[in-house]
Amino acid sequence: MSAVRVEIFAIGSELCYGRVYDTNSFWIAEQVTKLGAVVKRITCIPDIVEEICAVLEDALSRRPHFMILTGGLGPTSDDLTIEALSRLIGVEVVTHKEILQIMAERRGVSVDDLPPNLLRMARSLKGASCLPNPVGWAPVTIICCDETVIAALPGPPREMKACFTEYLAGMISEKTRYRSLAGRVLVTMYESQVSPITKKIMESMPGVYLKPLVGEYDGERGLPVDIVVFAKDREECRARMEEAVESFRRLVAQRGGSLKL
Ligand code: ATP
Repeated sequence: MSAVRVEIFAIGSELCYGRVYDTNSFWIAEQVTKLGAVVKRITCIPDIVEEICAVLEDALSRRPHFMILTGGLGPTSDDLTIEALSRLIGVEVVTHKEILQIMAERRGVSVDDLPPNLLRMARSLKGASCLPNPVGWAPVTIICCDETVIAALPGPPREMKACFTEYLAGMISEKTRYRSLAGRVLVTMYESQVSPITKKIMESMPGVYLKPLVGEYDGERGLPVDIVVFAKDREECRARMEEAVESFRRLVAQRGGSLKL
């Protein structure tokens, strides 16, 4: 099935030093999958402009439909996402007048009295959409490069979630011809016994993905198995999920095991 392809980039040296968990990518991947698109890559990049450009250039060559970036939009010298995108696409960095106006109104001051940190955060790219952050200051920049939509979202998880929901969810949803549904079952078998069964189901049911989560095996409850199904709408997803679970139950039972929902 030809899918809408998405790549996710979490920008921040603190992520690469292992000091902060990259929860943004995890959350975005879950949302994107629910909307029926397919995440092809998740990458963490340190705050080094050359590294950011190299990674993004490589991604652009794969022509994904969406590249979603988080982090590096703040006012400090290590916030380099806009610079990197400017170099990558070859467009100028500009201060976005409407965003300055919105910031000034929110602050209750005139544009001329905005502090330097907010002026720096109002930077975007020439020709890009620069959209206000519903719960914070750093705005979202969205720009098209050939067929790829590149969206730069702020790093703080609360802001990232609000911006994704407000601006990106609809854009992705409009492009996908699919939706997806995820569920989890428990099986009274070991991974080595379950794997041939999950492989068989995935081969016979395109758009169905099963993964035994051996890292979460529990001797008493059993082995959790995640199931993700893609179909054209929610109703078809539910029907397909039922079909996948039934097929799984039957194959497990044939081998002496059982399945719990
Ligand atoms: P700000 O204007 O707040 O500086 P920003 O877009 O520049 O926003 P960063 O400075 O990169 O974002 O990060 C802000 C906060 O969000 C930091 O506490 C950072 O650790 C956290 N953060 C950034 N990226 C992620 C991520 N991928 N997952 C979880 N937390 C993150």
